[in-house]
This record gives sequence, C-alpha cells and structure tokens, in this order.
Amino acid sequence: MTLTYDDLLATITDPGGREILDPATGDLVGRAPFRSVETLDEAITRAKAAQPAWAGRTDDQRKEMLLAAADAIDAAAEPLAELLSREQGKPLNGPNARFEVGACTNWLRATAETDLPDLTLIDDGETHAELHYRPLGVVGAIGPWNWPMMITVWQIAPALRMGNTTVVKPSEYTPLSVLALAHVLNTALPQDVLTVVAGDGELGARLAGHPDIAKLMFTGSTRTGQAIIKSSADTVKRLTLELGGNDAGIVLPDVDPKAIAQDLFWGAFINTGQTCAALKRLYVHTDVYDDVCSALTDVTSAMPMGRGLDENNVLGPLQNKAQYDIVSRLVDAARDSGARILTGGDPDSEGPGYFYPATLVADIDSDNPLVVEEQFGPALPIIRVESIDEAVELANALDVGLGSSVWSADADAARAVAARIQAGTVWINSHGGVHPMIPFGGVKMSGYGLEFGVEGLKSVSAPQVING
Ligand code: NAD
Repeated sequence: MTLTYDDLLATITDPGGREILDPATGDLVGRAPFRSVETLDEAITRAKAAQPAWAGRTDDQRKEMLLAAADAIDAAAEPLAELLSREQGKPLNGPNARFEVGACTNWLRATAETDLPDLTLIDDGETHAELHYRPLGVVGAIGPWNWPMMITVWQIAPALRMGNTTVVKPSEYTPLSVLALAHVLNTALPQDVLTVVAGDGELGARLAGHPDIAKLMFTGSTRTGQAIIKSSADTVKRLTLELGGNDAGIVLPDVDPKAIAQDLFWGAFINTGQTCAALKRLYVHTDVYDDVCSALTDVTSAMPMGRGLDENNVLGPLQNKAQYDIVSRLVDAARDSGARILTGGDPDSEGPGYFYPATLVADIDSDNPLVVEEQFGPALPIIRVESIDEAVELANALDVGLGSSVWSADADAARAVAARIQAGTVWINSHGGVHPMIPFGGVKMSGYGLEFGVEGLKSVSAPQVING
C-alpha cells in the first residue's frame, strides 16, 4: 500500500510533542516527540542487545536488507520529500528535497554494494597474519538541520553495513524528517538496529558521552564538535567529526566568466547556502573580476526563491531565525564597511518566513566578517586578488579546511594550485559535489575522520589482526 504524507506524519508525530514550524510560512508542520535522557538510555540498551544478532547475520543478508531499505525509500520518496520541504524549507525541485531523498537511496545502495575484504598481511611460511574488520558495537549519530535525511544515511549506512546497530539524535530543528526516514528504513530492518531519539543538545551530549556508544558520528558546528571531543575522553570514544567549513574558491585569470557562472552559483547557493561544503568566499583574479561579478549577478538574480512546495522555486528560506540573523548581521556589516552589494541584501521584512535573498557582495576586504566567519546562508563575498599566490595565502589563512575549489581553463594549472590548498577536498571547476565512493572529510578545525566508500566502512569498524 502506498504511504501517504498524512499517514507518514501521523505515524511519527505526538500530540504532546514539540511544535515544528514551517520556516517558509510559520505554519505548524507537526509535533515531534522529544524524549528524555532515560528514554535515550533505554534505546541504547536495546541497540546493544540487538547488535550481536545483527552482526551474526551474513554479509549478504545485511547487504540485502540495506538494498530493501533503499527500495522502501524509493517507494515513499514523494511524502518524504514533501515533509523535508515543509520542515527544512528547501524546495522540492533543484538540488533540494527530491534530490536529497534520491541521495539517500544512492548512498544506501552504494554502501550495500561496497566490500571491505579481510587482508592477508603476511603468509611466508613462517608468519601468517590477517587483518579483519569487526563491528564496533553501537554507533551513535548526531546530525545538523541542513541536509537532515542525507547526512543521517551517510552516518548510519556504513555502520549498519559493518554489523553495528545505531542510535540517532537528529537536530532539534528537523527531527520529523529523520523520524520519517527511519520509519521507512525500519520497514526493511530488524527491530532495534536503527533507533531515532529526538531531543535537543542535552540529549546529544548524553549520547556522545554514553559508555555503551562505541563510536560517534557527528556532523555539526565546530563548537559542538569541540564539546564532544572533550566528553569523549572519559570513554576513549572513537569519533568522526564533520564540522564547520568556510570553503574558498579561487578563480584563475584564464576562465570564461559566463561559462562558469552557473556552476559557481550552485557551488555557493545549493540549499540556499546552508551547506557545509558550499563555496563561502570567492577569490577572483583582478583580470576577470568585473566579468565574473557581472556573469554571477545575471545568474543569481534570475533564480526563483519562495515556498518549497511551489514547483517553480529552487531557493528557499533560511531554516531558522538564528541562521537568518547571522546572515543578516554579516551582510549589514559588509555593507556598512563600504562593500558593494551586487544583488540581494535587502530582505522583505513584511512577509512570513525566513527568506533572505541570494546576495553577492563585491569590493569587500579579505578580513571582513562576511569573509572570515561561516555565513551558512545565501550571501557570497567576492574578493579581488592581484595574484594566485595572494589567493592561496588568503584561502589558507582561516582555521577551517573542509572543501575548496579552483576554476581555470587549464586543468594542470588548476591542479597545481589545488595541491597548495589546505582542505579535505579541492574541486576543479565545480564545488561541493560528493559521491558515495569518494572519501569526504575536513582538515584543521573542520574535523577529522573520513566518510564514504571503503574509508567510510573502515571508520565504523574495529581492525583486528590475527597473527599465527
Ligand atoms: P550544531 O553543532 O549546533 O548542532 C548539531 C547537532 O549537535 C544537533 O543535533 C544538536 O542538537 C547537537 N548538539 C548540540 N549540543 C550538543 C552537545 N553538547 N553534545 C552533543 N550534541 C550536541 O550545528 P547545526 O547548527 O545544526 O549545523 C550547522 C553546522 O554544521 C555548520 O557549521 C556546518 O558547516 C556544519 N556542517 C558540517 C558538515 C560536514 O560534513 N562537515 C555537514 C553539514 C553541516
């Protein structure tokens, strides 16, 4: 039977739960069950009890169940996308809600089909040593509000594949999306293998510090990541930390500005700028500066923004008031400093919703707060540089290093610049694209640990050597 939006919502909401409002309209989406620390503890106990049987299944059985879970997401894709759009704000179309639900199935299938074989290390007649990858136990996952479904799948799919059970604490801003995702996934999984417990930061801290959580997958801000590192000391907990970023893009003087403008736009404004590895500061060589500004302005000012359920829109509201205020403050400060607003920068204060127009800011100093702080929203500073050396120095000057990009007609020249940038990923002539087989992770204060592909499977398993 086809799952409808109303059925899905009725299954995951609780009449006494926390109100979750649509960031585009202020309307009630639903009431999310926010749970106590005791409920979380019970979920961890049940996940621990379920883990040996899950690990005891054959590898093929776990693969098949993950593939069946992907099929279940496909069958419920429309109601899931609608809920995601209402709760998170992102439009159905463009690289947004339907795209995110599609990414969930892609990642589940790719993870199910990726193997991490045991290795024979030495077998020379005298020594026989093998490396095996064992499950860790219960893996905890804590996520943010920007890509709530996709990031949850990134965190849990490898953990389940490797024989761990999982307990997830979603963001307090987007719990319904994750509860709905888990409800659908659980139609294909045994009981207590995947549990979502909604709540706020206090519940996250409990999960992060719990002695029965063998490994924590965390995606969120650097500040929360630092608190988690401190609390992990007591249990020597393994961590994968995907933290904040302030990705730089560097445009070389040989580009065709019109040809790259669309890709530059989406690099910066995907999910209305609320993306960890979005282009957040653009350094453009002076020879092409004016032309890049003008081509990017043409593309940016033509992009429709509005309520996510309207099929025409590709940009939506900021997800919450706090994020709206950050973007507003940073753009106002840039304007006050004398920077030039090319488009946007003037939100409609009358209408409902946290809509901030897609904004480009030119002639801005490299130490302006809009450049050096993470805006996490639709406002891109464009900084003029006199040389590529200057751009590389400025790109590397901050204490974060998630992604970065180099834009050039000459791939070899771009790669040479890429090698000098301190970031976990450097894209050439694009920004922010991820793939389930390509490892992803940050350097510096953007965190540590890798997700995706074989590296992602290793990160949720315990290497064990059998020697003899
Ligand atoms: P956040 O750190 O405020 O919250 C993330 C999660 O941590 C939430 O579920 C929250 O309830 C929980 N939390 C809060 N306090 C906690 C504590 N003491 N212990 C454990 N958990 C706690 O981040 P956010 O505002 O939701 O997300 C935005 C940030 O996430 C941005 O900085 C963005 O760059 C980053 N991000 C990074 C990636 C990546 O892959 N590197 C991806 C998406 C977002």
